[in-house]
Order: sequence, then C-alpha cells, then structure tokens
Amino acid sequence: MYDWLIVGAGFAGSVLAERIASQRDQSVLIIDRRPHIGGNAYDRYDDAGVLMHQYGPHIFHTNSDAILEHLSQFTEWRPYEHRVLAHVDEKLVPIPINRTTINVLYDLDLKSDEEAQAFLDSRAEPVEEIRTSEDVVVSKVGRELYEKFFRGYTTKQWGLDPSQLDKAVTARVPTRTNTDDRYFGDTHQCMPKHGYTRMFENMLSHPNIKIMLNADYREIRDEIPHRRLIFTGPIDEYFDFRFGRLPYRSLRFKHVTLDEEKHQDVAVVNYPMSEEYTRITEYKHLTGQQHHKTTLTYEYPADKGDPYYPIPRPENQALYKKYQALANETENVHFVGRLATYRYYNMDQVVGQALAEFRRIQETVPIWQSAVNGKAHGADDRLVGAKLDTGRLLN
Ligand code: FAD
Ligand code: UDP
Repeated sequence: MYDWLIVGAGFAGSVLAERIASQRDQSVLIIDRRPHIGGNAYDRYDDAGVLMHQYGPHIFHTNSDAILEHLSQFTEWRPYEHRVLAHVDEKLVPIPINRTTINVLYDLDLKSDEEAQAFLDSRAEPVEEIRTSEDVVVSKVGRELYEKFFRGYTTKQWGLDPSQLDKAVTARVPTRTNTDDRYFGDTHQCMPKHGYTRMFENMLSHPNIKIMLNADYREIRDEIPHRRLIFTGPIDEYFDFRFGRLPYRSLRFKHVTLDEEKHQDVAVVNYPMSEEYTRITEYKHLTGQQHHKTTLTYEYPADKGDPYYPIPRPENQALYKKYQALANETENVHFVGRLATYRYYNMDQVVGQALAEFRRIQETVPIWQSAVNGKAHGADDRLVGAKLDTGRLLN
C-alpha cells in the first residue's frame, strides 16, 4: 500500500513527491508513461555526447526567490540570459521587439526610449477592448510589425489566427523601447548546472519514493493500492473525456547533430514569416557545453501527438471549467500541473502551484498511520502486499 500514487514525473509530480516523502514521511509511488523522469523538461546526452532537451528548449526564469530557493536544494545553477533572434525580411533581429529591432528593420537611428515609443505610437492601432492575441500586439506596435513577427508564427504554432486566441498568449512577449535584448525580464534567469534530469534525480532520490516508468495510469491504476492520488496528466483523460476532448497543441521535434562547433549566434532563432517550423534551438548556448559537434532542434507544431500546450481561448476554458467542477467533487485526488489544470504555465509557475498544493495538503489532510512512518497499519490497509510489477521499479 502506497500512501500516495503520483501520476506524472514532471515538475508538478516530482516537487510534490519530494515534499510528501521528506516532510510527511509518507510513501510515494510516482509513475510516468514515458521512459524517463522530468516530464517535458527532460534533458539527456545524445549519441554525439551533446546535452540536449528532448522536448524543446527549457530556460528557467522566475521572479520568485522562494521558488528558486526551493529548487536550489536539488541543483546548482549556471547563470544564463536567454536571447532570441527572429528571421524577418531576410534579417536576423531581436525579439522581443526593441529599439534595435526597429532600427535594423527600418534603417533608422532612434537613440532614446522616447524616440522608439514615438515610432511605435505612430503605428499602433487603437483597440477598444483588448481581448485577443491580435489586439494585444496591434494596439502596441501596429499591424505591420504584428504581421512580420506575430501573425505567421502564432498561426503556425497554434493552428489558429491570433484573433482566435486569448490575449494572454502573445502578451507573454513584451515590447521594449530600450535595447534590452533578453527574452525574459525576470530577476532570476539560469539553467540547472548539470541539467534538468540530474535535478529531478536528486529531487526523487528520497528513500520513501519509488519510481515506475513506462507505466500508464489507465493500465496500472487497479494494480497499485494507494490512499491518495495526485494526477498531473491531462484532466479530460482522467475523466475519460466525459465532456469531450480538451484541445491541446502538440509539436513534432526534429533533432539534428551537426559536425560543426557552432551553428547560430544565439540559442533560439524564430521563423515567423517562413518555414514550416517555428524555431531552431542550439543547446550549447543554454548549457555552456564545449563540444566539437552541436545539436539543434526544429519545432513543427502539430494537432495530434503528445499534449504540450493547453490552448487559451474562451470555449476551451469553459470546457475546462466543467472538468474542474468534476475534479472538485472527486475525493482524495489532487489535480496539479500544466495539463491537469489546463494552464499555460512556465516551469516556475508549476513549481509554485505544486508547493501551494502541498501547503493545502498539510493544512487539510491528516497524516495517517502507515508502514513508512513507523506506526501500525490502519484498519483499511487491506490491499497491502498486492502484487506490483517490480521489474519496472527504479529504486
Ligand atoms: P509535464 O512536464 O507535462 O509532466 C506531466 C507528465 O505526466 C508527463 O511526463 C507525462 O508523460 C505524464 N503523464 C501524463 N498522463 C499520464 C498517464 N495517464 N500515466 C502516466 N503518466 C502520465 N517553461 C519554462 O519555464 N521555460 C521554458 O523555456 C519552457 N519551454 C518550453 C518549451 C516547450 C516546447 C514546451 C512544450 C514547454 C515549455 N515550458 C517552458 C513549459 C514547461 O514544460 C512546463 O511548465 C512544465 O514542464 C510542466 O510540468 P508538469 O509537471 O505540469 O507537466
Ligand atoms: N510569438 C510570436 N512570434 C514570436 C514569438 C512568440 O508570434 O517570435 C507568439 C506565439 O503565439 C507564441 C507566444 O507568442 O506561442 C508566446 O511565445 P513564447 O516564446 O512564450 O512561447 P513558448 O516558449 O511557450 O512556446
């Protein structure tokens, strides 16, 4: 009998597994249907020996001291500030749009924030109510820059016109009038020094935690006796798609290793106006690894495949609300993470959400007697000793 079964070994599941094991002294079985831990943040050394991210570039950034501090128990950090160039009008220019972007694209020499702001103001279109991902950009930079940087990329990435997407999507990318060319503005920007997977290994190394991989919840749920469940997979799947499928956007990744030391000037180059892929990532910029070869990932957005992105738009939110209501009525099950709460969350936000859920658990769920915490078994531990496929247990 496990005290807790956790479905999904990404940030949501792993952060909670560690907290429960170390702070409540309870047993946890964490499972994942993939053959590895780390969820979408999983990284590995490829055949050439280059450290790469299997599911596309993951850059850690946060404004929260507490979240950084929490993760710092499991990793050291490498300082890294992310920079992205966009391939527009046959030029490579900084994105987010900043003063340099405008000067290069329009062959101008704007020297101050005020001059850049005046340029943008002269092009911005007034929008009465900013609702969509089109409104948010057009109202700030005007239609021409919107067409160059946002329309094509967003249509590729989401399979929808920006006017069909919530404003929150493109609002993730700021507009600047200075020459700050960093992609993120957060106070903390860094990469786990030895990679994400190593950080997850450290998080999950507690003796109260067992890991089972290649294990889909739907296949093993009746075989694993447990008291409580934390589910971090897609919430509609948990409820057998009772109200219909929640749309998630997928990606196909093409990983390529080249026999050259460096391929591009920055970690990520976006292709908003051309190509079927959205962006090319070169990992050595992120990791700082010295190697005579280099590995790149091309991202091709797709409708079908693993769920990577919840799609923020009102009708999807309405459908999610129906599942959320069901979740609220489901006792002894906690729904946490990007897929289970259908939120377009970054890694730090998922860590914050998981830590908040842990605080709620501490406040509302008493610690029951179990084998691990040295107390006698409770009366309803009838299933202790049920057979597990131990061949798949890692530790
Ligand atoms: P996940 O990492 O998706 O983990 C959920 C796990 O549950 C998965 O491993 C899945 O296999 C498993 N699972 C699901 N259903 C089942 C089931 N039925 N049975 C067993 N296992 C199951 N965030 C940043 O902060 N910075 C970035 O630069 C960044 N870049 C990104 C780039 C891409 C291409 C993508 C897709 C995301 C990026 N993110 C980034 C977001 C980041 O990946 C997520 O915030 C984070 O990984 C979410 O963690 P999670 O635990 O909620 O979900
Ligand atoms: N976006 C865009 N052009 C760009 C960069 C981003 O249109 O060059 C839009 C696009 O819709 C994207 C969203 O802004 O999905 C958020 O960008 P972000 O880089 O945060 O996407 P993620 O890293 O989550 O894929």
